[in-house]
Amino acid sequence: MKVLLCLPPDYDRNYPPLGTPALVGFLNSKGVNAMQVDLNLAYRVFLLDHVKGRGLSEADKKDLLHPLMKTLFNKKLKNRYYSKFLPRRSSRSFADLPYDNNSNSSFHFTEQLLSSKHLFRYLQDESENTFCQFYLAHQVIPLLRKENVKVLGISVISPQQAIPALTLGLLVKKELPGVHVNMGGQWVTLFRKELIERKDLFACFDSLIAFEGETPLYELVKAVSRNEEPKGSNIITGKTRHPEFAPRGEGLNNLSCPDFTGLDLDDYDAGARGSALTYETSRGCYWNKCAYCVDLPLPKPSYRVKKPALVVKEIRELVNTYGAKELLMGDPGMSPRQMLAISRALIKANVKVRWWTMARLDPGFSKMHFDTAKQAGLTKINFGFESACDKVCDLLHKGNRREISRRIIKDCAAAGIMVDLQTIIGMPGETPDDAMDTVSFLIEHKKDIAAVTFNVYYLTPGNYVYLRPAHYGIGYNKNKVLPFQFMLPFTNKWGMTKGQAQVLINLYYQLLAGNKVKKTGTGVKDRITRSGRATLSLAGQKVDLRWTKYASGNMAVR
Ligand code: SF4
Repeated sequence: MKVLLCLPPDYDRNYPPLGTPALVGFLNSKGVNAMQVDLNLAYRVFLLDHVKGRGLSEADKKDLLHPLMKTLFNKKLKNRYYSKFLPRRSSRSFADLPYDNNSNSSFHFTEQLLSSKHLFRYLQDESENTFCQFYLAHQVIPLLRKENVKVLGISVISPQQAIPALTLGLLVKKELPGVHVNMGGQWVTLFRKELIERKDLFACFDSLIAFEGETPLYELVKAVSRNEEPKGSNIITGKTRHPEFAPRGEGLNNLSCPDFTGLDLDDYDAGARGSALTYETSRGCYWNKCAYCVDLPLPKPSYRVKKPALVVKEIRELVNTYGAKELLMGDPGMSPRQMLAISRALIKANVKVRWWTMARLDPGFSKMHFDTAKQAGLTKINFGFESACDKVCDLLHKGNRREISRRIIKDCAAAGIMVDLQTIIGMPGETPDDAMDTVSFLIEHKKDIAAVTFNVYYLTPGNYVYLRPAHYGIGYNKNKVLPFQFMLPFTNKWGMTKGQAQVLINLYYQLLAGNKVKKTGTGVKDRITRSGRATLSLAGQKVDLRWTKYASGNMAVR
């Protein structure tokens, strides 16, 4: 009984995924023959093969891929039966596209196509659907046949993977009906009720798993091997009538070490700096209160930690097996207690590895925590800062206090750990004055802050703001929301508009640059080193761009 787990396109490629390695490790420990493949990484290779141009290195092609794809979808793929679902440069929201993605994996295209009568035509369209073209070129069906795979698990984390995942599922169900296709992951969990309602989508899969996947997938594999209907909490099949949903969390100390076998670890972008892997020391969030939380949709799983001794044992295994030099600890928010405990354990065991993680600006952090963690290899913390305004943090139950954030940022930077702040502008109830507080705070502390990521607030399903919009001063029309819509149009009744939020973000960058607005990649004080043309041919269309590379490494296209 062979199980193949895969990550479909179109997702981040910085670090290896953790979902499929965690499941492969667990299933193998139970005696199941499980393996994995990263189709997300392979899709980029497929696209890069379609980029041509004299003198282009692989790195140049990677830099050019995004502008080429953007131009292809914006300018060339017009007058198709699916074109009206693609976000257009002419549309007002084009500038706010999440991840600057206007392609067939964009949130906009995904939610529109899923609610359209053209869905199944597109999923099977070998001449227009680039994911379909990729699966055929990549010989996915022959691979499943050769390996005699009986269960295919498709991990869908982001809305950007939904159309590629359904394309793959439908292809496999048509070509190899005996293979049981299962879909799981965060997107499936978030939209589990909508997916149950859409019986037509069961043409693309046999079952779904919501919430954490280890035990349900093992139960499912056992049932399939006995030719029985998979049953159990959080397992959904076409016959499921009254699903039992519970965000039952796995006991982390009973799981196996993630198994990265089968992934091309050097091909991830962070891998270029040395072997970089993903790991976790906890699941769930010990705070669990933020009203806008996107990371852990409701109902939230309980918070669980791995014992420090187990963390040390597993990290040693990752270092020895894969030569890991850097770890992204994917904990949604590492608590001060957990950070201190694992840091002390790593130091005591003399394990040498660099790592970075996410955390809250928790008053429990002190200089001692950061000094110890620095000694244990911690290089960067990505803090959920969001706002320097206590009023905004209070309304959203963020739990951050301006003065405490100030102290923690200073302590962390003084310990030699990079401070990376996640910031949201335009939150419910946030006025331009409130946001100005945040901008001023960030400028005041710029010497201690290594990086700031700004997000303009967007309303998403599965959190308290969505459930109680009036309480948070948000207005949206539920009847106008598409079933699979992830970013919902809303009005911020007491707060600012998206346009005002963008003005404040621009202001921050101007203040940071000392009021001198710098243009990047235009060659100002930057020597041109090379230039040329690049083309991308895909879906029967060809786009052509001129590119210029500068001594600084910047690349400009037109
Ligand atoms: S700290 Fe992060 S993961 Fe926890 S509730 Fe807040 S936003 Fe969600």
